[in-house]
Amino acid sequence: MEQRPFGPTGTLVPVIGQGTWNMERTRPAAIAALRRGLDLGMTHIDTAEMYGSGTVEELVGEAIAGRRAEVFLVSKVLPENASRRGTTIACDRSLRRLRTDHLDCYLLHWPSRHPLTETIAAFEQLVRDGKIKSWGVSNFNEDAVEDAVRIAGPDRVACNQVLYHLSERAIEPYILPLCRQHRIAVVAYSPFGQGRFVSHPVLEEIARARGATPRQVALRFLVRDSHVFAIPKAATVLHVEENAGAGTLQLSQEEIRRIDDAFPLRTTRRGNLPVL
Ligand code: NAP
Repeated sequence: MEQRPFGPTGTLVPVIGQGTWNMERTRPAAIAALRRGLDLGMTHIDTAEMYGSGTVEELVGEAIAGRRAEVFLVSKVLPENASRRGTTIACDRSLRRLRTDHLDCYLLHWPSRHPLTETIAAFEQLVRDGKIKSWGVSNFNEDAVEDAVRIAGPDRVACNQVLYHLSERAIEPYILPLCRQHRIAVVAYSPFGQGRFVSHPVLEEIARARGATPRQVALRFLVRDSHVFAIPKAATVLHVEENAGAGTLQLSQEEIRRIDDAFPLRTTRRGNLPVL
């Protein structure tokens, strides 16, 4: 599994991680899948207090029990809880459910009505208290990213987690270059379009030539930029094993160009938020 530095943290994180949204629906299978993912090096596990109203964090806690040191563990505070005090309380709740004493990265799930200065102040206090190693944002457009960097200063925002899959490439012209400029990792969520993945003859041809699958080719295309990571969710061992295969796949410039042509970038107005 290829690893790369996660934004300014410099921590090596696998290019393909594991999402956990909706995993409470298939709990035992999901736990087995997460553990298999860890075996295969998919140690970036993404969760949130929102998922299953906390039950997914509990499930993740069970899946990583005894293996915490292997995991790059990420959770998210709900915007409604993201006041200075609310963020700290939410983090403590998440740590309890996850059965750990720290998160590797803690994200604001999407922009909040609470002032960003308060949320960032809480994040920085949590870093000082050793409860989180780093913090980031999610669903932030360019202006919101600029605000976060202005408030926090350089090299504080670890990542921006955003919607990114072959049929939704809106981040490419603006958010991705901006994050690159500020050394912010970009984490692609819903890399299979939330289960609506549709293959394409180009993906199939490349997959055949590489002894891979179309989904592996699609995931590798998304992480072709050295700042990008992907977190597919898979609640079955077979799916996890397939996704892990993207972590070692290589694509040539010509193959990347063909995929680029097959999934045209739909232009977006500057300032658009990726769709939640
Ligand atoms: P996704 O990863 O695009 O798609 C998940 C679906 O794809 C599931 O139905 C899964 O099935 C299926 N799947 C995965 N691997 C497969 C494979 N190899 N073959 C066939 N089917 C496969 O969707 P997502 O859950 O929306 O996004 C991934 C993660 O991103 C989430 O779980 C969450 O952690 C994060 N996320 C964050 C935000 C945010 O606002 N920050 C929003 C959405 C998602 P099985 O489960 O049956 O294996």
